[in-house]
Amino acid sequence: MSHLDPVSLAKKVRARDRRALARAITLVESTRRDHRDAAEALLAELLADTGGAVRLGISGVPGVGKSTFIEAFGLHVIGEGHRVAVLAVDPTSSRTGGSILGDKTRMQELSRNADAFIRPSPTGGTLGGVARRTREAMLVCEAAGFDVVVVETVGVGQSEIAVADMVDMFLLLLLPGGGDELQGIKKGISEIADLLVVNKADAGMKDAARAAAAEYKSALRMLRPANEAWKPPVLTCSALEHRGIDKVWAAISDYRQKLGDSGDLARRRAEQARSWMWNEVEETLLRAFKDHPGVARRLPDLERAVTEGRIPAAAAARELLDAFLERARVEADG
Ligand code: GDP
Repeated sequence: MSHLDPVSLAKKVRARDRRALARAITLVESTRRDHRDAAEALLAELLADTGGAVRLGISGVPGVGKSTFIEAFGLHVIGEGHRVAVLAVDPTSSRTGGSILGDKTRMQELSRNADAFIRPSPTGGTLGGVARRTREAMLVCEAAGFDVVVVETVGVGQSEIAVADMVDMFLLLLLPGGGDELQGIKKGISEIADLLVVNKADAGMKDAARAAAAEYKSALRMLRPANEAWKPPVLTCSALEHRGIDKVWAAISDYRQKLGDSGDLARRRAEQARSWMWNEVEETLLRAFKDHPGVARRLPDLERAVTEGRIPAAAAARELLDAFLERARVEADG
């Protein structure tokens, strides 16, 4: 395991060694117990060098142009002197075997750029697990000097919430004339979107894109309290023609500036770190609970008894918890 020595790996990550960066991310993505220990040591080692990036979540339905947009956006931002890392939370990747960023044809130009780093989504596991690994990969990227980190996710509800929980700002990409999407907005995305961008405002779709933007604007006015500090702007762009990308970046910079000045950025990140800690505790406890031999032995019968209505759910839970806690107490005493 010497090649995974966290201290020397951290040193190489800080020195912006790309191979070390890739290896460090592989390490934080691993679920092996010894790798977890090394990953935690690595993150502790890197902690002081994290936090410096603009953390940006991007979502939108498949086909809206996420990869086209991220490529155009990434190249623009690099042109402004930044370094861009792109990560993904893709809870569907365990099912399809692929991942939304695994496809090599995506973001070809950006992926060849020395100031860009694109990492496919970690595959397998629960959304919580995938989100944690992405969060940690984000920290590693920050320590490696990437000052813009984009976290992409597909538009499937839960994953957006997970991403909103790890970024400073959430950008929702929309299609021109997407009446269905307005429904999605009403269903809660509006609460996490800090910026809405109608893509494909080009060729024959320019007017439709403008109309859609106006519609979204009025929808937001109804959904959001009027006195909020930040009113999510609704912009249009063409990722394909690289038009309007500068305005998107300007809006992001503006938001970031305001968030920083008001102290909301620090508060938001502090809250995220706290809830991240509790997520870790919950995930770890639940795993330990399910792996506990006494629990595992009783679980099938008790579950059946509960579903068949023979035992109250609370009583079954109590019995399982007793089995779990009894063992924990013996271990603590011994
Ligand atoms: P994703 O599934 O959200 O990642 O979407 P893609 O980036 O793969 O784009 C889906 C399709 O939309 C592709 O055929 C793109 O060429 C096209 N597309 C993306 N952005 C634009 C745009 O700004 N204008 C037009 N006309 N087409 C676009």
